[in-house]
Amino acid sequence: MTVAFDHSYARDLPGTYLRAAPDVAPAPRLLVLNHLLAADLGLDLTEDQARDWFSGASLPPGADPIAQAYAGHQFGGFSPQLGDGRAHLLGEVMTPQGRLDIQLKGSGRTPFSRGGDGKAAVGPMLREYLISEFMAAVGVPTTRSLAVVATGEQIWRETKLPGAVLTRVAASHLRVGTFQFFSARGDQDKVKALADYAIARHYPAISASDAPYLAFLDAVIATQSRLIAEWMGLGFIHGVMNTDNMAISGETIDYGPCAFMEGYAPGTVFSSIDHQGRYAYANQPLILGWNLARLAETLVPLIDPDPDRAVDILNERLGAIAVRYRAEWLAVMRRKLGLVGEDAGDATLADDLMTAMTGADWTLTFRHLANPARLRPLFDDFRAMEAWLPRWQARAGEGAAQRLATTNSAVIPRNHQVEMALAAATEGDMAPFHVFLAAIQSPFTEAEPYMLPAPTGFGRYVTYCGT
Ligand code: AMP
Ligand code: MG
Repeated sequence: MTVAFDHSYARDLPGTYLRAAPDVAPAPRLLVLNHLLAADLGLDLTEDQARDWFSGASLPPGADPIAQAYAGHQFGGFSPQLGDGRAHLLGEVMTPQGRLDIQLKGSGRTPFSRGGDGKAAVGPMLREYLISEFMAAVGVPTTRSLAVVATGEQIWRETKLPGAVLTRVAASHLRVGTFQFFSARGDQDKVKALADYAIARHYPAISASDAPYLAFLDAVIATQSRLIAEWMGLGFIHGVMNTDNMAISGETIDYGPCAFMEGYAPGTVFSSIDHQGRYAYANQPLILGWNLARLAETLVPLIDPDPDRAVDILNERLGAIAVRYRAEWLAVMRRKLGLVGEDAGDATLADDLMTAMTGADWTLTFRHLANPARLRPLFDDFRAMEAWLPRWQARAGEGAAQRLATTNSAVIPRNHQVEMALAAATEGDMAPFHVFLAAIQSPFTEAEPYMLPAPTGFGRYVTYCGT
C-alpha cells in the first residue's frame, strides 16, 4: 500500500514551516482506527500498517514531515511564535472531498516546541477522536480523526500517563494565527502568499474577484459565522478559541478542553484556565468577531495602499459579522425547533425559549419539545415553558415531532460518559470507549445510557488544557 502524498503547502509556501521528523514510538499499539475515513481517503491499509504509520514507527512512503509556523492571541495576549510544537504534517492526499492534510499530533518535539515535550496522552487524544467524530456525525465542519496509537511511552503530566499519537485529517491547518505569524514580522509577501494559497485551496470561486482579499475575508466571516452558530446549536463550548485555534477552512479544530453544556446556562465555562470566562458558551459569537478582526488586521496592506482607507473598508466588513452570525444562529434555531420556512416571529420565539429553558438540559429540551411526558422532567420549574409551548406548537404545526428527531441528536458526548470512557482507556481497557464511540457515531439513534445527563453526584465539570 502506498499513499499518493502531495506537498502543496511545502512547495508553494517556502519559509512558513520547518522540516521535523516524528519520534519513533517504542512499542506502538493501535487503539482505534477509523476504517470508514480511511476508505474515504483511499487508504486500504492493514491494522499493522496503521499502527506503524500513525505512530511514527515507520512513515508511509511519500510522507515528508514538516512543522508549520503560526502565532496566536492566547486569551487575548499575543504570542508571536507558537507553531506545531507537537505535530507533524505528513503531507496531503487528494480525495473526492478535495485536498486533505494528514497530520500526526503528539509525535514529538519540533523546533516550535518551546518548553513542551512534544507528546500527548492517550486520554486527550481519544477525546479529540471522540468529539471530532461526533461533530462529523451531526454534520458540523470539523477536522477528522483517522487513528489513535498508544506509543508505549510514559509521559509526565501531573502524573505519569500513557502517551499516544492522534492522526488528524483536515481541510488544511491554516489558522488565523498563521497569517498573524508573518504579519507580526512585517513579512507582507508571505501574508499575500498565504492568502493566495488559502483562496486557491478553500475558496477557489473568489480567485476571479477584482477584490480577492476582501472577498477572502468575507468568505472566512461567512464560514466561521456558520460554524459558531452550529456550535451554539449543539451547546458546544470549544474552550480555547485562541486565534491559533481558528481554522481558515471553517472547520472546528484543536479539541482541547472543549465540552458540551448540559443544563442551559449562557455563562458555562469548563476549562480550568479560563478564569474570566472569555470563552464561555455565550461569549463564543463575540470571540468570533474578535478573532476575525485579528485576521483582518493582517490583510490591511492587501486591501488598499492607503492604510486608513483599508482599515475603513475592513471595519465595514467586520461590522457586519454580528448581523451575519445572528442570521446563521436563527437558521440553526429554526432547524432545531422543527420550523418549516421563515416567519417574522421566529427570532422572538427562539429568544423567548432561551429565557424559558434556563437550567434545563440543552440537548433533550429540543429533542423532546413535542413530548410533554419527556419534556417536563427536564425542568425544575415548568411555568415559563407552559406559556411558551403553545406559541411553538402553533408555529411548528404538523410533523414537528419527526423533524425534531432528525435535527436534534439523541446522543451527545456527555461529560461523565467521556470521562468514564477515557479513564478506562488510560487504564488499558478500550471496551467502554468503543461502545460509546458507536453510540456517538449514530447520534440520532436513542441509546439510553448515553442520553442521560450527568448524575448529580458528578458535580461541576472541569477540563484541562496543554494535555
Ligand atoms: P494548543 O493549546 O493545543 O492549541 O497549543 C498551543 C501551542 O502549544 C501550540 O503551539 C502547540 O504546538 C503547543 N503545545 C501544546 N502542547 C505541547 C507539548 N506537549 N509540547 C510542545 N508543544 C506543545
Ligand atoms: Mg492549538
